[in-house]
Amino acid sequence: MPAAPLPARLGRLLLLAALAAGLVSCRASDVALDAPTTTTTAPATTTTTTTAPPATGMAGDPGVGDPYFPELGNGGYDALSYHIDLEWLPDNGSIDATTTIELTPTVDLRSFNLDLVGLDVSLVAVDGVDVGFRRSGREMTVLPESVLPAGEAVTVAVSYAGRPQPISLGSDVFGAGWQTDGREAYVVSEPAGAASWFPANDHPTDKALFTFELTTAPDQVGVANGVLVEERPEPDGRRTWVWRAADPMATYLASIVVGDLVIERTTAPTGLALRDAYPPEHAAPAQELFARTGEMVATFEEWFGPYPFEVYGHVVVDEALGFALENQTLSLFGTDLLGAGGAGERTVAHELAHQWYGNAVSPASWRDIWLNEGFATYAEWIWLQEAYGQPIERSAERAHAGADYGVAPGDPGNEELFQPTVYIRGGLALHALSVEMGDEAFRALLREWPQRFHDSTASTEDLRALAEELSGQDLATVFDDWVHGTELPPFPT
Ligand SMILES: [Zn+2]
Repeated sequence: MPAAPLPARLGRLLLLAALAAGLVSCRASDVALDAPTTTTTAPATTTTTTTAPPATGMAGDPGVGDPYFPELGNGGYDALSYHIDLEWLPDNGSIDATTTIELTPTVDLRSFNLDLVGLDVSLVAVDGVDVGFRRSGREMTVLPESVLPAGEAVTVAVSYAGRPQPISLGSDVFGAGWQTDGREAYVVSEPAGAASWFPANDHPTDKALFTFELTTAPDQVGVANGVLVEERPEPDGRRTWVWRAADPMATYLASIVVGDLVIERTTAPTGLALRDAYPPEHAAPAQELFARTGEMVATFEEWFGPYPFEVYGHVVVDEALGFALENQTLSLFGTDLLGAGGAGERTVAHELAHQWYGNAVSPASWRDIWLNEGFATYAEWIWLQEAYGQPIERSAERAHAGADYGVAPGDPGNEELFQPTVYIRGGLALHALSVEMGDEAFRALLREWPQRFHDSTASTEDLRALAEELSGQDLATVFDDWVHGTELPPFPT
C-alpha cells in the first residue's frame, strides 16, 4: 500500500508523469502519498495503577521482535477476536470507544501489553473486573488482579476517548492510522497505525476475528471490513452500523470509513458478493473504476486459487490520497484514481491480488514487505496479459528497463518500506523465479502459497522453501540475486 515518503506534490507529479508515459503503476505506491499533515510523537508517559501486580507469572513482552519495528505487537498471548464499538463525533473530531478483546495467554501472565497511542483510557477490565494499567509511549500494560493461566481465554475491555492522531514511527514512514478532514474519518494503518484507534496486538503475526459497531451522525454511513450484519437507529437519531469480518485478519488491515457514502452491491461471475461504497457525487467514475472487478476475481481465481474471503469491494474517500490500500475485503481508494483510466484499473487489480498475497498470507515481519508488493505487482502483469493480451514478459521487460533499483527488495529498510524496488524488483524477482522454475512449477507456486499459509504469515525463506519443494531445484541464486542482492540483475531470459 502506501508509498514512498515523497512530498505530496512531487508524488502527484510523478503520478501524472507515469500516467502520461502510459506506465502503470497502480498503487500509486511507487508514486507517493498525500501524507497526512498531522503526525504525533508518542505521548508523555502517564500512569494509572490501582492494584499491585501478582507476584507470580510472567510479564508479557512489549514487542514481538520485528526486525524493523521491534516494539510492534506484544508477547505472552494470542488475540482471538476484537469487537470495536466506536462512536465518531465529527463535531469535535473525537471518538468514544470500547474495544473488547478475547485473548488466550500462552504463558502464565501477571501482566501483558496492548499497543495504543494517545487517547484517554477510562477503564480496563479483565473478565468484567476493573484492573490497573500503565501507559508508556505506544505500550499499555494491563495489570490483572491475579495471574492469568496459560491456555485459558479471557476477555479484556478497554474504554477510551479523544482525538485519534496518525502515528509517526520517528522515520519517514507514512504517518499511519486515523485520518480525518473534520467530517469524514478513515484509517490507513499499514504498517503500524492500528494502535492510533484501537488497543491491539499490533503485528501481522497475531491475526484475529473482528466485529465493528460504528455509530455515526444521522446522515453518515459507517463501513468496515466484512459483511454488514445490522443497521439500527439510535434513540438520539444517530445510526449504528455493525460489520463482521469472518476470517482472521491482521490488525493493519482492519479498516473503517465514516462519511457521506452510498453502498452498491453486485455479484462477481464466480458468485462472490461484491460491495462498494463511495460518495454519491462520485458514483459514475467510481462505478467505471470498479467495473471489471468481477472479471478480475474470476481471472485471479484461475491463477491463484479460490478467493480467500467471503466478500470483496472498495470504499472511496473524498480525498486525493495518492495511493490505495488493500484493507481486507474492502480496499481503500481516493478520488485521484477516479477517471485515471488504465492506471486506475491496474490499481484495482493490484489491491484485489493483495487479498491472496498480503492479506490471506501476511508478511512474517515487515522486512518481508516485498512478498506483499512483489506478488501484487506481478498480478498487474497477469491482468494486462489476460485482459489485454500484453504478455507478462513484456510488462516485466518494461519494468526492468524503467529504472535502476539498486536496493535489495528483501531488505528495503524500515524508513523506506514502500519504495519502488519493493514493488518493481519484487515483481521482477517473481518473474525471474518463473523463468528458473518453468511455467508449470511457478503456476503451482502461485496457487500453493495462499493455500498453505492462509490466515497466517510467511517469510521470504518460506517462499524459497516452497519454490524449491515444488520445482525440485536449488533456487538460492535467484533469491540471492533478485531478493537479497543490491545490484539489479540483467533481465532473465
Ligand atoms: Zn500494494
